Amino acid sequence: MDNKTNLWHQADTELNYPQLTQELHADVLVVGAGFSGLSTALHLARKGVDVVVLEAQQIGFGASGRNVGLTNAGLWIMPQQAEQHLGTDKGRALNQLLIDAPLYVQQLIEEQQIDCDYSAKGTLHLAHKASALDYLAQRAEQLSSYGAQLQLLDADDTFNRTRAKGYYGALLDNRAGTLQPLKYCRALAQLATAEGVRIFTDSAVTGLQKSADKVQAKTLQGKLTAEKIVLATNAYEDKLSQNRGYYTPLYFCQLASAPLSAQQRQQCLPDNNGCWDTGAVMRSFRTDAAGRLIVGTVGDIHSGDAGHFKRWSQHVVANTFPEIGALEYRYAWSGRIAKSHNNIPQLLEIEDNIVQIMGYSGRGIAGATVCGRELAKYLNGEISQKQLAIPFNKAQKISFNQLRAVAYELGSQLSHLSDHMLR
Ligand SMILES: Cc1cc2nc3c(=O)[nH]c(=O)nc-3n(C[C@H](O)[C@H](O)[C@H](O)COP(=O)(O)OP(=O)(O)OC[C@H]3O[C@@H](n4cnc5c(N)ncnc54)[C@H](O)[C@@H]3O)c2cc1C
Repeated sequence: MDNKTNLWHQADTELNYPQLTQELHADVLVVGAGFSGLSTALHLARKGVDVVVLEAQQIGFGASGRNVGLTNAGLWIMPQQAEQHLGTDKGRALNQLLIDAPLYVQQLIEEQQIDCDYSAKGTLHLAHKASALDYLAQRAEQLSSYGAQLQLLDADDTFNRTRAKGYYGALLDNRAGTLQPLKYCRALAQLATAEGVRIFTDSAVTGLQKSADKVQAKTLQGKLTAEKIVLATNAYEDKLSQNRGYYTPLYFCQLASAPLSAQQRQQCLPDNNGCWDTGAVMRSFRTDAAGRLIVGTVGDIHSGDAGHFKRWSQHVVANTFPEIGALEYRYAWSGRIAKSHNNIPQLLEIEDNIVQIMGYSGRGIAGATVCGRELAKYLNGEISQKQLAIPFNKAQKISFNQLRAVAYELGSQLSHLSDHMLR
């Protein structure tokens, strides 16, 4: 990815970490410096565990530095579906963990005074058709039973808050918010370093080898021996080929405009809510600290015709926020989501003492932060596998996962074309 095309990389907070060029030992090796890896490392180090993080590229290179920045609560699926998949007790434990997760992110940001443009204005799940309101009402009922603070808005209230046309209502989550994801990720790295975690970037792990009760990881220029390894590579695990196939890659792209004028700001998300809609090919809208409009949809902008996405977003913005006029897009980028077979994140046992945390299915800012915290408790022996709220499974490949990925991509492109023709 060219960092110049990703808006989040414009923040002047790039950190410098060394490359691993020596042979080291650690209690725990974390592979991957996104939210999962850094949160696990931070929470382990706070308990006095000696942790090394090896990152193939730079901090936040993967989904953590490319996402929309909505600190949403819960899973994509309904809480009751999670209970059906996992059983009542496990399902309820995971739901509670993830529904409370935005509060933990907010607490971390406030306690540590993290500068990541956090806005606690709430997020809006927009109903793109009348029948989607029933879905949102059910979602509100189920999430509220876990203590979420939600408000179902009618079409007028939704329009007044967003100035977005064509929506039938929305579910407002008052405990969620928006942030600049790469700044948040880099801040987690800084906090982890301050707790003693050693972080190395440009240090891709190219192979793992088990010997007695230790695991050795190799990079191009160095080696690391650890008691335990956490693979936190999610959908960006290209160099560790033995882990492929546990998720379906799903792409999501975003385009960011130049900063809007004060008048345009009144006509486009004036309350700064982060929004996404109920469409099968989802759209997202948010603004950033500089007042840019950021529009997102399913698809990979780097896979072919970038012009297709620009035309699509111009069309969608003209229909949704007609008063702001045509926009010039300065940034356009995409990222890979790890969609698990049931849209539930999981901890996979790859081998003894090697686990992989993955599969947030597009809900990983708050999710990965709290999963990292819980994983740290488990690795440190504070809770047993049974007490862990994250499902713990033997690694299993998803059949035809690449074929599914192609189908999602084609489906989203067809939907964008029909947006032009039908709406
Ligand atoms: C476009 C997009 C929009 C999204 N929007 C939202 C949102 O609004 N809200 C939300 O909650 N979630 C969202 N998500 C999901 C969320 O971003 C992810 O769930 C989360 O960032 C996953 O974090 P992670 O640390 O598990 O993985 P990643 O951030 O992908 O990190 C994995 C890291 O592992 C590194 N790595 C890979 N292989 C190796 C190796 N061999 N050696 C060393 N390092 C390696 C990679 O370079 C990468 O930095 C979105 C995701 C995408 C892609």
